[in-house]
Amino acid sequence: MYYKDLEIWFIVGSQDLYGDETLKQVAGHARIMTEELNGDDLLPCRILCKEVAKSPADIARLFGQANASDACAGIITWMHTFSPSKMWIAGLKANKKPILHLHTQFNRDIPWAAIDMDFMNLNQSAHGDREHGHIYARLGLAPKVVAGFWQDRELRRRVGVWIRAAAARHDGMHSVVLRLGDNMREVAVTEGDKVEAQIQFGWQVNTWGIGDLALLYQGVSDARAEALVQEYEGRYDLAPELRQPGPGRKAVLEQAKIELALGEMLEREGAGAFTTTFQDLHGLPQLPGLACQTLMEQGYGFAGEGDWKQAMLVRAAKVMARGLSGGTSFMEDYTYHFEPGNEAALGAHMLEVCPSIAVSRPRIEVHPLGIGGKADPARLVFDAAPGPAVLVTVIDLGDRFRMIANEVETIKIEQPMPKLPVARALWKPLPGLHEAAESWIIAGGTHHSVYSAALGLEHFRDWAEMMGIEFVHIGKDTRPDGLRDDLRRAASYWSRF
Ligand code: MN
Repeated sequence: MYYKDLEIWFIVGSQDLYGDETLKQVAGHARIMTEELNGDDLLPCRILCKEVAKSPADIARLFGQANASDACAGIITWMHTFSPSKMWIAGLKANKKPILHLHTQFNRDIPWAAIDMDFMNLNQSAHGDREHGHIYARLGLAPKVVAGFWQDRELRRRVGVWIRAAAARHDGMHSVVLRLGDNMREVAVTEGDKVEAQIQFGWQVNTWGIGDLALLYQGVSDARAEALVQEYEGRYDLAPELRQPGPGRKAVLEQAKIELALGEMLEREGAGAFTTTFQDLHGLPQLPGLACQTLMEQGYGFAGEGDWKQAMLVRAAKVMARGLSGGTSFMEDYTYHFEPGNEAALGAHMLEVCPSIAVSRPRIEVHPLGIGGKADPARLVFDAAPGPAVLVTVIDLGDRFRMIANEVETIKIEQPMPKLPVARALWKPLPGLHEAAESWIIAGGTHHSVYSAALGLEHFRDWAEMMGIEFVHIGKDTRPDGLRDDLRRAASYWSRF
């Protein structure tokens, strides 16, 4: 489902005490607000104005309806007046949807000359929302709380970020990770508890044999592959030798066939993400390189070496980033540049980095790959666009999942790297390479991650909160020793679950 198919329910709380006239005004204000919010591109889903919640029965019914609605991705609550929050306990205990507690009021300014007690009774979210917030704290719930005037751009941006996270959660609850083969042998960090992942995130992580893909691959006609390669020629440059018949052209056609076969399989299985592993490619001529890159560009999650957690996180990030500028990709920390004062990390993968992060038109090239023992694979070669980005991962600690996010500044690659024909990104992590790397390692972070120039920390933090998992931020103020202490303290919090 896409944003246009999803709804965010807007539930405004009040109570019967105020009488019909006031309650009519409350309902009218809620309608005006939702209409205006729906006209703002910062909020990517439709906000659905529900009836004013005035009693425990109303509230329980509204949350029950939200739980039963597949289109409802989340709920915004706001107390225009005072709404005694013991009335909300049953509804909130039954609730299964992410909540954003919007703390705002209909009027921006106090009408100094006209203000009277009627106005005060109608516009009292300043205390109504405190009563409402208390019941979340009492129930141990952690909705996102956004305070400010509802017409302000920053408030709407933050609500929009939360909606994107809610949409990604919704997508994950309906998504399958299609694993082709198992994880790379002996690797720890790409492993994890797939049952727990489904309980926690909704992700259905299942395995298919590579033979299923090889069979579909054999069935793709040369004509369909040729037509797809002609589409590539519209989007990418092709190395000169790939434009005429020969072994290079054949390699590109093979990747086009892999893309078509994989695309068919993903569609058939309702999968939003997939993994491959170079140790299990029997029946395929090459490691899927270009094919993984183009499928990621279409919005599929992907990670190499069977890393299903990052594949699904790439998918979640792709959903959150839909319609935003800046790309999102699977990424791997590869090599460091330790020049004093100019430290940076070079990120790449064997092949599979998404062209959405490219600074300029990517180029298809065919070169040998020193791993896997297959034919020379076609791949897209490009540099990542400079600018701020985030690197994010999810790990399985055995008793819980942890998300780790590091802010980075991607920089222009000044030196040509003619012997490294892969997609690559060069970044300076915050607070600095040494401290960022120490912090990431202390937190148990992966070599694989999601790289996004489209999303910020808040998107991932909102998503992690909705999922009820730990969120570890590495940024300009992070010190490795302090982080180690923080993680030790947090462990006692997480041990409660
Ligand atoms: Mn890898």
